[in-house]
Amino acid sequence: MNNLESLETTLTLPSPCVVFKPNWPGSSNVNLWVKRDDAIHDVISGNKWRKLQNVLNSFSQSRIVSFGGAYSNHLHALGFACSQLGIPMTALVRGHQSATPSPMLQDLTNWHVDIEFVDRITYQQRDNKDYLETLRERFVDALIIPEGGSQLSAIQGIQTMMDEVHDKIHFDTIMAPVASGATLAGIVSALKPKQNALGVGVLKGEGYLESLVSQFLPSSNEQWNINHNFHFGGYAKVKPELLQFCETFNSLAPFKIEPVYSGKLFWALKDLLAQGFFADNANIVIVHTGGLQGAR
Ligand SMILES: *Cc1c(COP(=O)(O)O)cnc(C)c1O
Repeated sequence: MNNLESLETTLTLPSPCVVFKPNWPGSSNVNLWVKRDDAIHDVISGNKWRKLQNVLNSFSQSRIVSFGGAYSNHLHALGFACSQLGIPMTALVRGHQSATPSPMLQDLTNWHVDIEFVDRITYQQRDNKDYLETLRERFVDALIIPEGGSQLSAIQGIQTMMDEVHDKIHFDTIMAPVASGATLAGIVSALKPKQNALGVGVLKGEGYLESLVSQFLPSSNEQWNINHNFHFGGYAKVKPELLQFCETFNSLAPFKIEPVYSGKLFWALKDLLAQGFFADNANIVIVHTGGLQGAR
């Protein structure tokens, strides 16, 4: 068994897909399930495992370089995986070193990940060809993974998640949070005829998020759209009522949510149910993409 195979034995896969029965107005008119990708692993949870799986499988270089903020679930999942697999890693982190590093950065340090802070202007270059070329010259023989792990191979990992859902449920609608769009793109690319996907934008990005998703999709697929009413002011922005919602939810439900991704997703679900947005008896799957480490 190689290192990756032994890491995979510690993952809960396929992840559970469980019936969800909240006592929210409108919820008795539909059938709800939650795809529990948050249950895959405590650290490499959710869509970040799905997005990294194929990259790690075909990894042949001598180092991994990637990007993220100080609370990035992607860097956290990747850092843990690299430490388990003995892969040297450099994390290019947006912002400045702080006297009190985030729990995520502390973990990276414990896992012997090299952390380099980059200012906001440089960070904005993260997808720029010339900037990437300078990184390739500095980190010879390194694999450079984009922010959030979002690249074409990530889409295939999300399709694996969809295979697991299709095996269990004939759904009408599937819901997921949207930030870099790769997760929603992977979901949409695995839909069957008559199914649709509803993304919930977790940042202010009407138009922008749609363009991120469609860049991964082959043609003008019309089985999806993104709701922009639940970003609460922007990425990682919260309001007291959202925090209260997450707290109440976490005290009642058999799984936990956090305010950056899943909290906004379940809030959106609750709101749409109350509005009678879904058809009667619709079968709806909510993808819990994980990310609870970011809430620390
Ligand atoms: C990164 C992340 C997302 C966003 O996924 P994208 O593919 O970037 O849209 C959603 N949920 C969690 C928990 C995440 O960590």
